[in-house]
Amino acid sequence: MGLTEGRGPKTLWDNPAAIIRQLAPDNPVMAFAPQILRDNAERFLRGFPGLVTYAVKANPDPRVIRTLSRAGIGGFDVASPFEIDLIGRIAPKAARHYHNPVRSRMEIVHAVEAGIKAWSVDSFSELEKLFDRAPAEDCEISPRFKLPVLGAAYDFGSKFGASPELAAELLRAVAARGYIPSLTFHPGTQCSDPMAWESYIFMAARICDLAGVVARRLNVGGGFPAHRASGPAPDLEAIFQMIDRTASAAFGAQRPQLVCEPGRGLCADAFSLITRVKALRGGSDIFLNDGVYGGLTELPQIGNLGRLEVLTPEGTPRSGAPLPRVVFGPTCDSLDRLPGQLALPEDLQEGDFVIFHGAGAYSTVTNTRFNGFGQMAHLSVRTVS
Ligand SMILES: *Cc1c(COP(=O)(O)O)cnc(C)c1O
Repeated sequence: MGLTEGRGPKTLWDNPAAIIRQLAPDNPVMAFAPQILRDNAERFLRGFPGLVTYAVKANPDPRVIRTLSRAGIGGFDVASPFEIDLIGRIAPKAARHYHNPVRSRMEIVHAVEAGIKAWSVDSFSELEKLFDRAPAEDCEISPRFKLPVLGAAYDFGSKFGASPELAAELLRAVAARGYIPSLTFHPGTQCSDPMAWESYIFMAARICDLAGVVARRLNVGGGFPAHRASGPAPDLEAIFQMIDRTASAAFGAQRPQLVCEPGRGLCADAFSLITRVKALRGGSDIFLNDGVYGGLTELPQIGNLGRLEVLTPEGTPRSGAPLPRVVFGPTCDSLDRLPGQLALPEDLQEGDFVIFHGAGAYSTVTNTRFNGFGQMAHLSVRTVS
């Protein structure tokens, strides 16, 4: 069993296999390894050439926020009054960047009262709402701009982001009103091609030129990839170095301070989702006790998680040759199916466990409880392998 006595919520299990052997959990379990999260935080803090903030929406679990805060993450990207208050409670000294570019007037009032001093915008109508309600003193406003997507698994630009020309006009207006002018972008999620950042950073410098404004800071967004596929983990350091080099090349002496706001890149690899095989049908269909309405919500959008392990209830790995299977979740909706097929061992049996590694982002927080499923236990582990 785990490193500590007892099996209360504070128990630290050795790994997912120990949980399976001891509990044979019939409901899904999300296994969280705080040490992996601390290691990821250190990797960003060591390698990224600027301020590292955490995009709370990826996984707002208070244990995640607390662990990151203690590891030295000093800022958070928040998008709603709930997230603003969550960070205010758990990490009261941290900076909060309210980087959802669309807000109701009530939300703006709430944020000003909570002490928010950093905002993003992508339109003049939203900028006017901030000019109305957010005092200019020590207050930073960052126009958010977009380019056609490159290299991202999912296109965020289709919802938010001004054209470079509009961003330049917004930046000029921000500076003219006495706010701190900065710029921000978000290249999309799970960006495995560092070129995405390069083109955005060069465009940021063009926008400053167009506006005739020196930006105080440039927030290069999230999008840092997690280890979703089998094979080597993404080379984050190469991305950090590319961002550093590009910022100097694009801005020269007027290089702004850099900020990043990873969600997935910080939290995903610290979690593994333990699911159980409820049924095999006709030798090719597998029914799991979790699916796209539970912890695997984003798979239809961005593809399967490729780092899988299949264990027997005794916790031993199944080693049969991989056989492509259609994998369904537990609800009665036919959409509740993982994309394509998953290669699972041919000797897989009903009652076995399928562990999805790297499952910590956009999973716990998007679990819907649809059809009465999704009752997920949250346990801590020393390590996930
Ligand atoms: C979602 C989001 C992020 C985090 O994205 P990841 O792909 O999880 O790193 C960062 N910034 C903004 C503005 C976002 O909306």
